[in-house]
Amino acid sequence: MARREYLKYKEAARSLVKNRLAYFNAFYQFKIGRVAIKNSRSRWGSASKKGNLNFNYKVALLPQDMADYVIVHELCHLREFNHSPKFWALVAQTVPNWRIIRKKFKKIRL
Ligand SMILES: [Zn+2]
Repeated sequence: MARREYLKYKEAARSLVKNRLAYFNAFYQFKIGRVAIKNSRSRWGSASKKGNLNFNYKVALLPQDMADYVIVHELCHLREFNHSPKFWALVAQTVPNWRIIRKKFKKIRL
């Protein structure tokens, strides 16, 4: 069931993520490694120190503001590998209402 949904939405997620990464990275100009779409039960996304980014296929099912938040969040981890005020200031440069969007994630299940 979850596997079938993953296969169904994976490519839509990949094209959304690539598109929005390009859009936001036109601003940030970070070096991005591999981008993968995963079927994770616990995470919306992750970033590695090698510059690789992983995203949950369910970003394709989110409203645009929430999908953008996940993408910008992971993108900003390529510069700041933490959730320090510096990190959030970086996020706020393209998603100024990140606090409001972040709260929405507490109301939905992954
Ligand atoms: Zn984070």
